[in-house]
Amino acid sequence: MLIDPHIHMFSRTTDDYRLMFAAGIEAVVEPAFWLGSSRTSPHSYYDYFTHILEIEHKRAANHNILHKCCIGVNAKEAEEVDLSLETVAGMDRFLEHPNCVAVGEIGFNNITPNEEKVFRAQLELARKKDLPVVIHTPHFNKKAGVARIMEILHEMELDLDRILVDHNTEETMPLVADSPVWKGFTIYPTKMSSERTVAMLKKYGFERMVVNSSADWGDSDPLAVPKTAALMRAMRFPRSVIRKVFFDNPREFYAMSGRFDPPVD
Ligand SMILES: [Zn+2]
Repeated sequence: MLIDPHIHMFSRTTDDYRLMFAAGIEAVVEPAFWLGSSRTSPHSYYDYFTHILEIEHKRAANHNILHKCCIGVNAKEAEEVDLSLETVAGMDRFLEHPNCVAVGEIGFNNITPNEEKVFRAQLELARKKDLPVVIHTPHFNKKAGVARIMEILHEMELDLDRILVDHNTEETMPLVADSPVWKGFTIYPTKMSSERTVAMLKKYGFERMVVNSSADWGDSDPLAVPKTAALMRAMRFPRSVIRKVFFDNPREFYAMSGRFDPPVD
């Protein structure tokens, strides 16, 4: 029983769904993201939100997988600040959709003032809608990005119990380890391995830790979650720990939306 709490199924095939279910994945969460080319209007975002909330949800269900979404405007496109803020202003109805379980993924790409504006607007919206938040941390200058994210969360006095800071590394963990925020690890061939992630879990413990694949149209692996769980089992971690990290933790985080309840038995 596994959950992949961050995967972009929009860019994956039905074969992936089959393999994921056979490998034990019973539920996934798909955060809205950059599609590889930039949008030219809010409607382009809205059509995409509808697609992942409804079509992707059905496609997953046809392969026995529960599929839910995070809705948000990504940092990569935030330099188009007017377009981004206009999109955010019309996002309420998507955040109220029964398949939406969080605001995300939002955060920083190049840590610019425009990105911060779009990020803050969506944090405010998450507070208003009482939804958890999934935060994307930048690939470059990651440590500075995470430090700035933590400052903003504190300045805005957000409820840190309802926030997941994703894509952590050995460098960022000291910045979030003692905070109540949830900590995400992304197993991605060019960025982070299962082995390094397991070493960090061993070091920092299993509370509020989640592991995902972030699989998308890049060189990524939709089976990264089951492979990491298998590695932990091979290393003789107790089943209860594996269940906590790969099922109970992500379930508990997204359940704060009131719309995420994959069966426990
Ligand atoms: Zn992502």
